[in-house]
Amino acid sequence: MRIGKVLLALALLCSPWSFLAAQTKEIPDWCKPLPRPEYKSLTRMLPDEPWFEVYKVSPGVFAIYEPHQAEEVISYLIVGHKQAVLFDTGMGIADIRKVTSRLTSRPVVVLNSHTHNDHVGGNWEYSFVYGMDTDFTRKNAKGSREDAQAELAPGQICGDLPKGFDPKTYATKPWKISHFIHDRFKVNLGGRTLEVIATPGHTPDAIALIDRENGLLFTGDTYYPAPIWLFRPETNLDEYVASVKKLAALAPEVKLVLGAHNIPVAKPSVLPELVAAIEAVRAGQGTVKPAEKGKALHEISGFTFLMAAP
Ligand SMILES: [Zn+2]
Repeated sequence: MRIGKVLLALALLCSPWSFLAAQTKEIPDWCKPLPRPEYKSLTRMLPDEPWFEVYKVSPGVFAIYEPHQAEEVISYLIVGHKQAVLFDTGMGIADIRKVTSRLTSRPVVVLNSHTHNDHVGGNWEYSFVYGMDTDFTRKNAKGSREDAQAELAPGQICGDLPKGFDPKTYATKPWKISHFIHDRFKVNLGGRTLEVIATPGHTPDAIALIDRENGLLFTGDTYYPAPIWLFRPETNLDEYVASVKKLAALAPEVKLVLGAHNIPVAKPSVLPELVAAIEAVRAGQGTVKPAEKGKALHEISGFTFLMAAP
């Protein structure tokens, strides 16, 4: 996904012919290595779903993965005895509410790791959507068409779009924020409590969720095992570094790190390594490769950051 997009960007820089080749190729490069090997050890659920791939990643925790679009975004349904939290609602290309209602009969509350279009596409389908109290969140809740349309550009789709999906009218639909939340807000699901950890940086409204009793940390786009996007104008690198330090401090009490793209499982040891990597990159270390539209790929010790070119 995110790797494929970057490779395509590099190909675009290299020659116009590779651009033509990428456009006419039936299978985009990013989806050739799918399925990713990490999924083999996870239990697949609802295998008849055509757009989403659903995996049980821990008791009561389901990764809802969208492998047919280059973001390879992952939303998480976290189920308690009384209610469930849906952490992100995906692209809005297929009906995620249908999937969550097949997985649980409990009421579902939506929280977003942040409000970029690929994480909020199904928000409009739910009655209870919590939002961080930021202007960025309020602006995005009005919906938009441009970012959604860019997700359908040539090479972004692998396989078939869902039946009945109309690419021409595809947009992020507006949603209503039921309740504003802040850092350390807690949701009691019944037998399971999730706590919000504000992690501004990737966006002003970025959050992580921690389930301390079960040692689960949901990191959104602050960490996932693929190139991490830090190039948008709403990204603040000083805040990002402070936020990854905050998450790294939690590593000793975490058993599993669950990010929002590509692969749903990572070891907690990745968190202190991420701090070292981003600090080294900011100090000018690692390798730098140009990427499309004024961006640069910074690589160091197994991490890749897509940043604005200096
Ligand atoms: Zn994002």
